[in-house]
Amino acid sequence: MKQLESKTVLITGGSRGIGAAIAQRLAREGAQVALTYKASPEKAAEVVKAIEEQNGKATAIQADNADPQAIVNAVETTVKELGRLDILVNNAGIGVYKDINAFTVEDFDAIVAVNIRAVFMAVKAALPYLKRGSRIITIGSCQADRMPGPGGALYAMSKSALTGFTKGIARDLGPKGITANLVHPGPVDTDMNPANGPAADFQRSLMALDAFGTGDEIASLVAYLAGPESSYITGAGFLIDGGTNI
Ligand code: NDP
Repeated sequence: MKQLESKTVLITGGSRGIGAAIAQRLAREGAQVALTYKASPEKAAEVVKAIEEQNGKATAIQADNADPQAIVNAVETTVKELGRLDILVNNAGIGVYKDINAFTVEDFDAIVAVNIRAVFMAVKAALPYLKRGSRIITIGSCQADRMPGPGGALYAMSKSALTGFTKGIARDLGPKGITANLVHPGPVDTDMNPANGPAADFQRSLMALDAFGTGDEIASLVAYLAGPESSYITGAGFLIDGGTNI
């Protein structure tokens, strides 16, 4: 039996990049998958199709993380269409890099809404459905802990806030048998951070290994945290960054 057989997962931002890789990996582990997207219905449909071609079950839901009600609706749609919810993966995120003098209050509000408030809303909306053994997994960033250059103050702030939030909910939900953990990727080759982008060589210069990570490598850690073998892990953060932060 596959390790996530009979489980249902909701992944925010599953149309591209790390979220798409997580969706496909968890489907291969046997989970039914709901994935959200903001503006890429075609990309989301491609991920659903790829899962269905492997005899999995998946559905795509449009939900902008900036809209708190959209997150609630996405949770409700997941349960309506797939019957249950066992694993929540908070993956959708945005990165805005500017000098602190250039950041506006709109930048601040946008990053807080998408990277922090949406995680809070998704957890609250999911809780009524999460039974004993359920998992909450959130994608942070190695920059939550170390900022190696200028421009990332708001991004780092948003990702480090997830550490406090995850530790807090781990305490709240432990007695219910629900775990909450964080995955902190380093540079991963996606549209957000292409391995041939302008900041790529700088990022490579920080790594112990010599290459960007892949979505599949992040998905493999998420699959472990989603599965039964991680049952005694909660409130923890896992760095998966090619040695960037050492
Ligand atoms: P991408 O930009 O490649 O993909 C982002 C995904 O999130 C897409 O599916 C996108 O949907 C969705 N998304 C973006 N904004 C919103 C929104 N407002 N509401 C709902 N969905 C949204 O990003 P990555 O895959 O690189 O990043 C995924 C996560 O990993 C993020 O939280 C990021 O901060 C984190 N991370 C990434 C690193 C990297 O090097 N790539 C390093 C460390 C952390 P759509 O297609 O519709 O736009």
